[in-house]
Amino acid sequence: MLAVEAMEQAYAPYSRFKVGAAALVDDSRTVSGCNVENASYGATLCAECGLVSELVRSGGGLLVAVVCVDAHHQPCAPCGRCRQLLSEHAAPGLLLAMPSGIMTIEEILPDQFTGSDIARVTAVPGTAGAQRRSAGDLGASRGGLVLPGDVGAAPGQEADV
Ligand SMILES: [Zn+2]
Repeated sequence: MLAVEAMEQAYAPYSRFKVGAAALVDDSRTVSGCNVENASYGATLCAECGLVSELVRSGGGLLVAVVCVDAHHQPCAPCGRCRQLLSEHAAPGLLLAMPSGIMTIEEILPDQFTGSDIARVTAVPGTAGAQRRSAGDLGASRGGLVLPGDVGAAPGQEADV
């Protein structure tokens, strides 16, 4: 089992709580990850972080099924941050093996924060929301850096920052 193999590679010398994650991708690939702790604790990477990194590195795609396991080979619930991380790369209805049974990503993370939440706020005022700026449109003269004053400035017009 790929998740167990990943768990056995975990670097968890501080908590000794090893976790492995494995997933099926919509193109039938499998990806996996393990947790990697750090002495600073806050820099610790969950197994799902490694899984998503491998997903992106190996060509992207959408996750259709995910399982995380602990050292007893039992399903382990993704933390809140990882639920958000997984949701960005989830196929609709992504299935997750949770300690209480199989659940969908929508069940474990309702009302997900997505890129559309960002676009809603960064839309150009006065365009009735029909036009949205792309990151490339904003701050092009600053190497793509978007500053708060840029929002609302007409193209070619310097924002007052
Ligand atoms: Zn996590």
